Amino acid sequence: MPFRIYNTMSRSKEELLPIDGEHVRMYTCGPTVYNYAHIGNFRAYIFEDLLRRYIKFCGFKVTQVQNLTDVDDKTIRSSIEQGLPLKEYTKTYIDAFFADLAKLNIEPAEYYPAATDYIPEMIAIIETLFEKGYAYQSEDGSVYYSIDKFTEYGKLARLDRKGMRPGARVEQDEYDKDNAADFALWKAYVLEDGDVVWDSPWGRGRPGWHIECSAMSMKLLGESFDIHTGGVDNIFPHHEDEIAQSEAATGKPYSKYWMHCGYLVVDGKKMSKSLGNFHTLREVLDMGYTGREVRYELLSGHYRQSLNFAFKSLDANRTALKRLDEFSTNIKEAVGSETEADDLPEWAAKTRSKFAEAMDDDMNISGAMAAIFDTVHAGNKAMSKTLLSGGQAVAISNLWKELDAVLGILEAPAEEASVEVTELLEARAIARAEKNWPESDRIRDRLAGLGWTVKDTPEGPKLRRL
Ligand code: AMP
Ligand code: ZN
Repeated sequence: MPFRIYNTMSRSKEELLPIDGEHVRMYTCGPTVYNYAHIGNFRAYIFEDLLRRYIKFCGFKVTQVQNLTDVDDKTIRSSIEQGLPLKEYTKTYIDAFFADLAKLNIEPAEYYPAATDYIPEMIAIIETLFEKGYAYQSEDGSVYYSIDKFTEYGKLARLDRKGMRPGARVEQDEYDKDNAADFALWKAYVLEDGDVVWDSPWGRGRPGWHIECSAMSMKLLGESFDIHTGGVDNIFPHHEDEIAQSEAATGKPYSKYWMHCGYLVVDGKKMSKSLGNFHTLREVLDMGYTGREVRYELLSGHYRQSLNFAFKSLDANRTALKRLDEFSTNIKEAVGSETEADDLPEWAAKTRSKFAEAMDDDMNISGAMAAIFDTVHAGNKAMSKTLLSGGQAVAISNLWKELDAVLGILEAPAEEASVEVTELLEARAIARAEKNWPESDRIRDRLAGLGWTVKDTPEGPKLRRL
């Protein structure tokens, strides 16, 4: 079965056929590094991670670019408020972003370009847009893109061109569909920009937000590439404007497929900085949840549907992850000293095809997880009757590794304790409080069997890898 993905451009599912037949080049709009990313942002990055992992599972090569927006209205405003140079200010959040990606087991992209390193490329595109008649300079020195000149303007967001007001301009990077207007390619210097300024053929200033992604994507992936992704809020104006700039400049199609994820919502409202209804990943981790639990949550709904965030579903995930951990432990025990894989037992033989069939359908994650849990259920039953040979267990272990290369949640990361381990730790604390030393010793041995030791510190018991 081919991998079919929903293309926002055609509003339909299409087979993923990379332009060169074998290598998928994808661009994902990255964080604006003016603050810590919130878990709504990470919903988008986890959707993109699942996508890149599944593309690889399908046998294609992937080159993914995720940009860092380190210069725009928000980063400049915040760095000036903090009295820090822009680069120094954004570095804190760039470092935090990479640490958060690791916590969520998000595979690194091949490139993480920062906008401030691509100013000459942005200027070159704007020069071409001038030559071709799509750009003009306004009285205040800023350069704008004339949406009227690009007859296909509005094709991604499906805008009604009749309602547009020719010549109207919008200065801010973010605006809504009702205010579709000529947007800024280059913003003339104003005092509020502090020392954030570059020379250009149109005078001193800085780039608009949209041109940044056109420059970084085309420089690193070529003028035409395969997939461009983001959250649905990126469709307009950001992606519409990227298409207008890029296709007008090159005369070639920009991205072949456009994929957008739905929002992470809280009580029906998009999680966002502006509404104040957000949680950063570090806040959630400080509350005692693990990166794996958060990943499971953000992965668990279909990427195009909105996903409601509530702590009680994070709690509920512990049960599901515990079942996965118990299954993995049982399989490891069944492997014993066997190294050669045998054929998969009957109850596992269809798992891979069921998983792939669901994922091929625009990443139907519920179907894919159902294939996983059906196997866990059948496997536990078979193992309780000791019906599994060492060789079959090796085969299952290999299958699990292959599927976890896509999901990234089947195995607890080496440095992160599984649910079973944290529960044993709690049981040990109870046994010790009750002075039940034999029970406490039994739990210590069980933990050692799972690769952990406990150190009692003034802050309470701490787990360490053996
Ligand atoms: P920003 O830093 O605001 O440019 O957002 C970075 C990425 O996060 C973009 O792809 C947004 O579409 C995405 N995003 C922001 N808020 C949410 C949310 N609540 N749910 C899902 N994706 C989001
Ligand atoms: Zn972008």
